[in-house]
Amino acid sequence: MDIKKLVKKEVSSLRAYNAREIPCRIKLDANESPYGFNRALRVAAGISTNRYPDPEAGELKKVLAKDLGIRQDMLLQGNGSDELIYYLISTFGGPVLYPTPTFSMYGIIAQALGEKKIEIALDSELDLDIGKILPAIKKERPKLIFLSSPNNPTGNCFSTGRILEIIESSRGIVIVDEAYQPFSSEKGFLPLLKDYRNLVIMRTLSKIGLAALRLGYLIAAPEIIAEVNKVRLPFNVNSLSQAIAVSALREKKQLIAHIKAICSERDLLFRDMRKIEGLTLFPTEANFILFKVNDADRVYSALLKKGILVRNLSETVKDCLRVTVGTPAENKAFLKALRQAGI
Ligand code: PMP
Repeated sequence: MDIKKLVKKEVSSLRAYNAREIPCRIKLDANESPYGFNRALRVAAGISTNRYPDPEAGELKKVLAKDLGIRQDMLLQGNGSDELIYYLISTFGGPVLYPTPTFSMYGIIAQALGEKKIEIALDSELDLDIGKILPAIKKERPKLIFLSSPNNPTGNCFSTGRILEIIESSRGIVIVDEAYQPFSSEKGFLPLLKDYRNLVIMRTLSKIGLAALRLGYLIAAPEIIAEVNKVRLPFNVNSLSQAIAVSALREKKQLIAHIKAICSERDLLFRDMRKIEGLTLFPTEANFILFKVNDADRVYSALLKKGILVRNLSETVKDCLRVTVGTPAENKAFLKALRQAGI
């Protein structure tokens, strides 16, 4: 029996998301926080392992709603925001429009679900190419538009005016993916939610020290949340993740201190990388830096030889690597290895 022949054609032509574990000493490849919340793990002892999780993640929603100043029925929990992308495309279908380069899961999930993808390259400033996006909206009428701002892997925020133009022109849903919003100097789109019925904001706890939990959430009008909730698997966020997230989110001072430390380390790292000749740096509002070298494959391997793992993006963004901001010691080791590697 040829299993390959049984697979849907959309899936058989897909390439799995590249999330291999590569052994290394210093891990700066996945935009994780270098700081965890191990104290919050204590609550694990109180979990009843024989019981299903709270299907509504009530306590978690209460904490998030209070922090964000919104109603609980404007929130939907996901097993990471990856899962929420799946739910959004399952609920609304395609076409699905997004700029490129961007977070690869929008395209992978759209394709897996057999929906049409509309990819529009960013302009030379790495901003949204409104001259191409607006006509595409008119012609293709996408049901969903994903805008990661700050964008992964470029690191920049798209201009607010352009995002608003897209929201106003679209008769579909526009998702502003704010995975990296905590590190940005921009305000984000939460304050605009009341003005636009078709706006959805997507966030995650993965980048602020809780990637192990797999917890993302949508913020949107209750009528959108209620529809997406229909395709949600009943117990999609496990009890441990719910309890640990609630506990960690209550450590607000610590959360804020970590984010501040990462931002100031990022600025120092950027300043030091700028001094390396031959390297092109892209401005960032996230917890990572995209940079261009002469030969990305060579520099990637040279760094890995020294035990430092970064993301090699050369297949999607020519000769570019992406480094996640680590602890001061990790960043120092990265800089030293990068200088030694030569550009
Ligand atoms: N959106 C963006 C822009 C991302 O970069 C990522 C993680 N790389 C995600 C969403 C997914 O995050 P998670 O599933 O961990 O919540």
